[in-house]
Amino acid sequence: MMSLFDTPSPPVTGLTGSPLDRADHIRRDPSAAIAVRSRPDARWLVLDDLKPLLTADPKPELFWAHRSDIPHNAPSVFLGLTPDGAPRFAAAAPAADLIADYGGRLLDARAAAMLLENGRAAILAQARSLLAWHARHGHCSHCGAPTQIAKAGYARTCHACHAEHFPRTDPVVIMLAVHKDHALVGRQPGFPPRLFSALAGFLEPGENIEEAVARELHEEAGIITTDVRYLASQPWPFPSSLMIACFAKAKAAELTLDFDELEEARWVTRAEVLAALGGSGDWLAPPPMAIAHTLLKAWAEAS
Ligand SMILES: [Zn+2]
Repeated sequence: MMSLFDTPSPPVTGLTGSPLDRADHIRRDPSAAIAVRSRPDARWLVLDDLKPLLTADPKPELFWAHRSDIPHNAPSVFLGLTPDGAPRFAAAAPAADLIADYGGRLLDARAAAMLLENGRAAILAQARSLLAWHARHGHCSHCGAPTQIAKAGYARTCHACHAEHFPRTDPVVIMLAVHKDHALVGRQPGFPPRLFSALAGFLEPGENIEEAVARELHEEAGIITTDVRYLASQPWPFPSSLMIACFAKAKAAELTLDFDELEEARWVTRAEVLAALGGSGDWLAPPPMAIAHTLLKAWAEAS
């Protein structure tokens, strides 16, 4: 009999592997959450309009500012502790003065995540998702009163009706339909020229991952699928998705596209996918940071 753990581990995906300990014992203790802010080794990642400030080095890194650099009223969230125990935070604040004093530059978060290694992109994902959520949830969804930041940035509370609100993560299925020796890739209308990727869509209330995969493939490409298999997942902080990557077996190759969702779709071979992943194909695959890249690579390299 096969053991539960005989199947391979999921591949490592982009935007994961943060070195920080999220230190929940600090987040749920209000006095500890205040005390860590005053530690001399505490540092802040600055996001200006959700764009992170990076160092000016040839190989840019996250810029870590001191508390004195952060405006008093800037929304600030606790990210966790470094392996050395130093507190790390993120703040939504203007970066112009920091750039004037120390150099560095603001970069679009996706572009920044592609440059950062060793779990740094995961820190950025955590910071960007949390600060984006705070920026959009200043009022209570129950009663409309203003809400206040709580639990070191992991909740907002409403003093009028006492509701607590928590940062949300929206699950998205992203899947490769497979038919014999071909996999299905498609182009959404807004994609950069020549880019093809796995099909994707939001999970809806009241369905599981397998049902969402089958529904999305049927809606977007008109195919019936079976045998949904999970591969891996990744956070996608634009603004707050969890991408859940799966394979599914298509019963037939005939496609009926929903042109609102897909402007083109095609069945591709393993050789074509490997060429696209390596940058030498006649279409472009998503970058390694994106789980669609992981999904295409896993299929192309499977026997
Ligand atoms: Zn309320």
